[in-house]
Amino acid sequence: MTTQKIYDLIGVGIGPFNLSLAALIEPLDEVDALFFDQTDTFEWHPGMLIEGMDLQTPFIADLVTFADPTSPYTFLNYLHHHDRMYQFYFFNRFDIPRKEYNKYCQWVANQLKDCHFGHKVIDVKDANTTKPCYEVTVQHTATEQTETYFCKHLVLGTGSVPNLPPGFEDYKNEDVIHTSQYVHSAQSIKQGKAITVMGSGQSAAEVFYDLLLEQKYYEYELTWFTRSGGFFQKEDAKLGKEVFSPEYVHYFHELPFQERLDALETLDPLRNGVDPKTLQAIYHLLYNRSIDRDLAVTIQPTTEANGIKARDGGYELSCKQWQEGHKFTYPTDKLILATGYKPKLPQWLEHYQDEIFWEDEKRFKVSKDYRLVFKNERPNHLFTLTNIEHSHGASATNLGLSVLRNQTIINTVVGKDIYPEPSKAVFQQFSQQFPR
Ligand SMILES: Cc1cc2nc3c(=O)[nH]c(=O)nc-3n(C[C@H](O)[C@H](O)[C@H](O)COP(=O)(O)OP(=O)(O)OC[C@H]3O[C@@H](n4cnc5c(N)ncnc54)[C@H](O)[C@@H]3O)c2cc1C
Repeated sequence: MTTQKIYDLIGVGIGPFNLSLAALIEPLDEVDALFFDQTDTFEWHPGMLIEGMDLQTPFIADLVTFADPTSPYTFLNYLHHHDRMYQFYFFNRFDIPRKEYNKYCQWVANQLKDCHFGHKVIDVKDANTTKPCYEVTVQHTATEQTETYFCKHLVLGTGSVPNLPPGFEDYKNEDVIHTSQYVHSAQSIKQGKAITVMGSGQSAAEVFYDLLLEQKYYEYELTWFTRSGGFFQKEDAKLGKEVFSPEYVHYFHELPFQERLDALETLDPLRNGVDPKTLQAIYHLLYNRSIDRDLAVTIQPTTEANGIKARDGGYELSCKQWQEGHKFTYPTDKLILATGYKPKLPQWLEHYQDEIFWEDEKRFKVSKDYRLVFKNERPNHLFTLTNIEHSHGASATNLGLSVLRNQTIINTVVGKDIYPEPSKAVFQQFSQQFPR
């Protein structure tokens, strides 16, 4: 079926970023939009929905509140509709369980008629029509039938995919998994006699903690290796966290490319590392367990794994303690790679490869209002919420500023300040040239 109508906007992918955009657009007469996701229902990183783990951002950074606290799609309204207000009041915390954030997003997604799941966007190109617009080919995942839609503007929100280190890309099976598969594979993983977790970010710590908790019901030895120099917590100071603010995003975007890359490294302690609560929980559990038994646990930093091969019904990791320069092999039955994610960029972007500006071979130039920058300026925009760390800084993958990005996009699409942006979000100033 071909639909000739031209929508104002089509969103590719419905993770929290585009879901927030859909929720903010829903009450607007000015924007006729459609959103597609290849999965059958909204699921937020389902392989990492480990019981007891919290969202790393306060609930106030929900899908809409920063732009419009009166929206029906706030987290508080979700609680109200599920008769959980009083329990939340007694819970008395800003950080909510990740499982509940997922439920909340599902509740919003189910109400938005413009969100279509089970639809994979397989191509986007300039339409051969009199009015400039994009032609979007969408495949129904159940029937494999394709449909074509047209839109003035497109918003890329395809998120990320697991980042597997060299030597491990081809070794994915039920014994060797990325953390993104953890919940789905946990039962089989726990049957191993030796389990190794590689990495030291939040996901690594959550998986290690879950395996440590469960260890008493199974017979496995548990190992935690990381290439990092230690198991560090994420910086949590309130003043430091002001870099996750509209002001910092504007400041960052004005910097030259190399200065931006350098700034990201400087901000590393605020961006990477483990939530102090998780590290504390791990230590407390280790301490308590060690009272009356020898721990079947090895924890070692400064250690990288460079390869894996099958051996004696299990596996042998090629490892190196890089500080000492000591190479060794390490037997394991199961391996969990907590090696992070990288942006998922669709194949069809190649159509625009030569038409847009790039900052280096992988990172496209992105305007302040999240447009890819075309060499020949065009009225119909290709916005992106994906792969913008180099252009918009530390908060690019953070839920906290997702609403702000969507406010900006909506204001550009409509041509007026439908959702005015905040002017005073922080106490500090970042630029000498543009004081607050
Ligand atoms: C385990 C984990 C926990 C995190 N916790 C936090 C946190 O607590 N706080 C925080 O601020 N940030 C957190 N983040 C970072 C960030 O908020 C999330 O990654 C967030 O999900 C990003 O949203 P997104 O919409 O960009 O992408 P995603 O959530 O990855 O969604 C992208 C969607 O696009 C769809 N898609 C991809 N290609 C196509 C296509 N061709 N056609 C149709 N659909 C497509 C996918 O199916 C997917 O549903 C976390 C990240 C991870 C991995």
